[in-house]
Amino acid sequence: MPDIRAVIDPEKCEKCDKTLHCPAKEVCPAQAIEREEDDEPYFVNAYCQGCGKCAVFCTNKAIRMV
Ligand code: SF4
Ligand code: SF4
Repeated sequence: MPDIRAVIDPEKCEKCDKTLHCPAKEVCPAQAIEREEDDEPYFVNAYCQGCGKCAVFCTNKAIRMV
């Protein structure tokens, strides 16, 4: 596990109009972001490599690196 990893704030995630499209998910090189249902927030699992791409591409600044 890297020292830094991504976390998603469900309150800020706009769920991208409840479609399955998520720019942050699409740029993740580790397939670390998953989505269970259309109306559920995304989450980051143990595959996160800490690269920070998802935080840059998230449309609503819902992802931060900690
Ligand atoms: S890009 Fe950001 S705001 Fe949009 S669905 Fe993904 S995590 Fe949520
Ligand atoms: S920090 Fe990088 S590896 Fe981790 S979830 Fe975001 S894009 Fe994927």
